[in-house]
Amino acid sequence: MKYHRLSPLNVAKNNSRLRRAIVRILFASDGGMTRSEVSTKLHELGLFREAPTESSLAALISKNAQVIKVGYAKVELSNGLTVRNMVFDVDRNLIRCEEDIELTMPYSCMTKSMKEQAQRCPTCRQMRIIEDTDECLACLRRV
Ligand SMILES: [Zn+2]
Repeated sequence: MKYHRLSPLNVAKNNSRLRRAIVRILFASDGGMTRSEVSTKLHELGLFREAPTESSLAALISKNAQVIKVGYAKVELSNGLTVRNMVFDVDRNLIRCEEDIELTMPYSCMTKSMKEQAQRCPTCRQMRIIEDTDECLACLRRV
């Protein structure tokens, strides 16, 4: 297999693209997914030339506050053993409809044009897309 080393800037761009895709995949799921289900889905969507490894996927998922752990799934391995895999989902209290994904997105995950629209939330001091409200959606929903 040919392996292309990405420059640090491309790695950051690719990671933020992956994090955005992961949030959308989980949002479309029914009750969350395990890491390997997310990985399969990323691959099916054909968004990425190289699928992330389990450990890099773990880092991508856990670095985003839009995603939470919701439980465990029992998975049977080919050798007959059963393991417990963590199930992740979007924070459904925070993200109630598809538009909420962009409104709660961390600055590091935003596209260039989103970054240009982002403003600093006066409450949490984070850079967020804020529409016609005084604070970001996460602050509004965490009252
Ligand atoms: Zn805020």
